[in-house]
Amino acid sequence: MLVLEAGDHAGAAVSQWNHVRLFSQWSELVDPAAERLLSRAGWVRPDGDTCPSGGEWVESYLRPLADVLGDRVRFGARVVGVARRGRDRIVDAGREDEPLTVHVRTAAGEERVTARAVIDASGTWGSPNPLGGDGLPAVGEKAAADKIVYRVPDLVAERARYAGKRIAVAGSGHSALTALVVLAELAEQEPGTRIVWLLRRGAVGNAFGGGEADQLPARGALGLRAKKAVEAGHITTATGFRTAAVDRAADGSLTLESFDGHRVEGVDEVVVLTGFRPDLSWLSEVRLELDPVLQAPTKLAPLIDPNVHSCGTVYPHGETELRHPEPGVYLVGMKSYGRAPTFLSLTGYEQARSVVAAIAGDHEAAGRVELVLPETGVCGGAGVFDAPEVENEGGCCGSPEQGELTIGLAPSAR
Ligand SMILES: Cc1cc2nc3c(=O)[nH]c(=O)nc-3n(C[C@H](O)[C@H](O)[C@H](O)COP(=O)(O)OP(=O)(O)OC[C@H]3O[C@@H](n4cnc5c(N)ncnc54)[C@H](O)[C@@H]3O)c2cc1C
Repeated sequence: MLVLEAGDHAGAAVSQWNHVRLFSQWSELVDPAAERLLSRAGWVRPDGDTCPSGGEWVESYLRPLADVLGDRVRFGARVVGVARRGRDRIVDAGREDEPLTVHVRTAAGEERVTARAVIDASGTWGSPNPLGGDGLPAVGEKAAADKIVYRVPDLVAERARYAGKRIAVAGSGHSALTALVVLAELAEQEPGTRIVWLLRRGAVGNAFGGGEADQLPARGALGLRAKKAVEAGHITTATGFRTAAVDRAADGSLTLESFDGHRVEGVDEVVVLTGFRPDLSWLSEVRLELDPVLQAPTKLAPLIDPNVHSCGTVYPHGETELRHPEPGVYLVGMKSYGRAPTFLSLTGYEQARSVVAAIAGDHEAAGRVELVLPETGVCGGAGVFDAPEVENEGGCCGSPEQGELTIGLAPSAR
């Protein structure tokens, strides 16, 4: 077993949002198998009821776990391609007899690693969705890069950048709610700070989440805090706003224009939190079976499609749902969800357990389901994703049946 990590330490992606507090508690963030390994090295899990920040999750769990795994984890090793040895994706002949070849880029140059199986757990953090309402950069978005970020601002390190400014926040998931809350706090302390919230949907509707009905209390509380911030008048909303263009005015401020001609003027900074997408470019030579809408494995996609489920009703899933036509190649973790805005690390731990069991030949363990996920308390009916009006029509999942699991509307972020 070899883990190839592009960054220079474990949890390199999480470290880039180390200032954000997770809505999951420690008890939901530690994989059972990892805990067994760590315990042997004298590690003790932090208090289960508290929610760490991204930085704490890295320092107190991910880094110690990599230490325990020792030289089976290589840092500074970026995977840039995966292929069947000597066969591109169209060649059938002799395919089943060849191992997989992983193309790796390191500071020392190029390398090839031969493998029986490849588990791609590279996440989606590196490919955030753009501001453009059609999924491509808006006209002028790239030219305005100095005023646009695609992550929750760190208001300790970057306070001066946002204090006293007019800030547009685009998105309606938990990352967007987190940004609204911290920017509203800044607005209370720094006169002149104004926030405009850009929403594609026609009404705020259930964007604040399930509140007290959410089984992750911190996630529910976040929505309630964001709601209060809007009600307190720190934030104005622009609903039905699908950004088409970003123009720079003579005074340096930005004007955002939507596809239907609405304009938001005098914007100093833009915070884009519109979700993520998988980078599939380096998997071009293996045979994947991905849903055309979500870019998630086809058997998994219908279970997590936000167009169908507002709350995400997910049947227990593992290796069977994650399998592709290319034997031994799997996407797990955040990347397995493609563009679906519903992922919890607990799901990823269970996926990895099942996939590894299958690779090891233990099909009974691979087929077993060992996952219970917390519900969001949001269940607004089918087909409401990004709809002009969000109405609660009694829920899309009903009462979960035996063996059915429910996970949140929450996007990948809090
Ligand atoms: C702000 C924020 C808050 C969140 N809060 C929660 C929460 O409270 N609870 C929860 O369960 N989930 C939360 N999530 C989701 C969380 O990110 C995932 O649960 C978890 O980090 C996903 O793990 P992953 O391994 O799939 O992807 P990542 O954590 O993104 O890890 C992928 C790793 O792969 C590396 N990598 C990328 N490309 C390559 C390559 N080509 N070659 C080699 N290495 C590569 C990256 O450097 C990175 O270290 C949050 C996400 C965000 C952004």
